[in-house]
Amino acid sequence: MTKKRPDIIAIDGPAASGKSTLGRRLADALGYLFFDTGVMYRAVTWLVLQRGINIRDEKSVSALAEETPIDVLPASRSDGRACDVLMDGKDITWETRRPEVDANVSLISTYAGVRHAMSEQQRRIGLRGKVVMVGRDIGTVVLPQADLKIYLDASAPERARRRHQENLARGIESNYDEILARMIERDYIDSTRDVAPLRAADDAVVLNSDELSADEVFEQAWRLSE
Ligand code: C5P
Repeated sequence: MTKKRPDIIAIDGPAASGKSTLGRRLADALGYLFFDTGVMYRAVTWLVLQRGINIRDEKSVSALAEETPIDVLPASRSDGRACDVLMDGKDITWETRRPEVDANVSLISTYAGVRHAMSEQQRRIGLRGKVVMVGRDIGTVVLPQADLKIYLDASAPERARRRHQENLARGIESNYDEILARMIERDYIDSTRDVAPLRAADDAVVLNSDELSADEVFEQAWRLSE
């Protein structure tokens, strides 16, 4: 008897552990929607900086998150993006990848109001099923009912090395030591915050990708989805 494929797949883990690469491939192979929830937190951060709102003003930042609809759509261009990020109809996909967004996104992600607004939108989409959702709290908070939960981990130096290579490949100026320092800081904030901290769900399968290629990670995840 063949087992039913999981309808909802949650992938969590720290920055640059390969979650998006894996999630996108799994979603493509299964014909599912790929949803990278980090882009929503990034979009709010970009807007806060753009509007000149004080990033530490939790009330104003949360209000902005509540009132701003963010659209995440399948990629309309093949310029390396995983999806299109739209805000008020404007394509802000690459703006959300800027270093100032990287530096501030984890702080706004600690705000309960921001998390509530984002999680609601994510849950609504996730519960439609046939989805691979990627983030920090998908298996623990957003979709604890997910049929398959993967926690993808890798050491900080390895993750920084990968991000550095990605930047160089895209022709972006890049400093490994800076990336590593920021990544460690972001991991710390993400895993010690009060609301929905980064951690593996009790029923998640933990994969460490330090010694694995992207293909090998995919093969392991694919077997789990069979
Ligand atoms: O995955 P990515 O690096 O794009 O996520 C950016 C930031 O958004 C993370 O460092 C984290 O602070 C926040 N985030 C979160 N919960 C999620 C996804 C992302 O708090 N589900």
